[in-house]
Amino acid sequence: MSEESPGPGPNAGTPEPVVPDWEGFTRELERIFEQASCERGGEVATYIPQLAQVEPEQFAVAACTVDGRRFALGDAAEPFCLQSCCKPVNYCLALEEHGVEGVHGFVGREPSGRSFNELSLNEEGRAHNPLVNAGAITCCALLQSDQPVSERFDRVARTWERLSGGRRPGFSNATYQSEKRTADRNFALGYMLRESGALPKGTDLVEVLEFYFQCCSLESDAETLATAAAALAGGGVSPITGERVFEPSTVQACLSLMTSCGLYDYSGEWAFRVGLPAKSGVAGAIFVVVPNVMGLCAWSPRLDQHGNSVRALAFYEELVRTFALHPFDDLAGARRDKIDLRRPRPLGP
Ligand code: GLU
Repeated sequence: MSEESPGPGPNAGTPEPVVPDWEGFTRELERIFEQASCERGGEVATYIPQLAQVEPEQFAVAACTVDGRRFALGDAAEPFCLQSCCKPVNYCLALEEHGVEGVHGFVGREPSGRSFNELSLNEEGRAHNPLVNAGAITCCALLQSDQPVSERFDRVARTWERLSGGRRPGFSNATYQSEKRTADRNFALGYMLRESGALPKGTDLVEVLEFYFQCCSLESDAETLATAAAALAGGGVSPITGERVFEPSTVQACLSLMTSCGLYDYSGEWAFRVGLPAKSGVAGAIFVVVPNVMGLCAWSPRLDQHGNSVRALAFYEELVRTFALHPFDDLAGARRDKIDLRRPRPLGP
């Protein structure tokens, strides 16, 4: 377990912390973490050796509030590859470079209802959304297309660093090499997009795919990813450094799509049960944004049939059963037995 006090962020030291009963909150996190640790279902991803060989018992949970308070449990400093967790940030970068119309001329905004790497496009012959592989490849094609891949990759890595309060992401070259060697499906998606006119003119497909694999091979850890999620929760401002990384309108667009499309073809079920913007990746991470409150990350490598971490799902579902975090928990007459994080003390029984 580790705990850190607020950093020098914009709200640090203010008299009213965003989560007043911090001890009560962290006590519940410990309980929920222990409960989710009992889940032993699922399998680690096996399509590349770097994922197949990880220790499946690893489990971490981390939280970072928008006023910079941090808490972590388990293997929270253990590095893992971002994989699909890289997609929201690339989408934000594409939005800031090209605007909403510029990006969505090339990629849709609907959940695909299919698996993340399904060979299918929408009715306009575009990728369904930026959070499935085809849409993520499209976003990679849009990012600084006049620059060499080295520059483009550096910009993405620096953005993660800024979101993470100055912690530079790692890079797994072994994962990158393996992704490249087992890339037939992603190449097939790329050719299908290009054939359909869904990529900008002049796109060098091989270069773009290599860039996409590099982004997937960036490494983070649960504590760092929760900190980056907190920057999204704060509308694009790092709670640690106070730096604005993205415009609020960019973050709003991204969170909207994370809410509807962030968990592969479990996204509808997730929206029903948890209702919070989230993104999962096949390395076993799911990061969640509680707007104006905090970022969370749960990581454990065993995945269910949809590609989502079994323990991370168990953790979030119990979290939302305990705390009034579902966006509709505050409807008049909604359940009053849940704890309201923003109140000084938990509600009594
Ligand atoms: N590198 C994986 C792919 O592109 C990402 C999978 C994922 O995390 O969803 O297929």
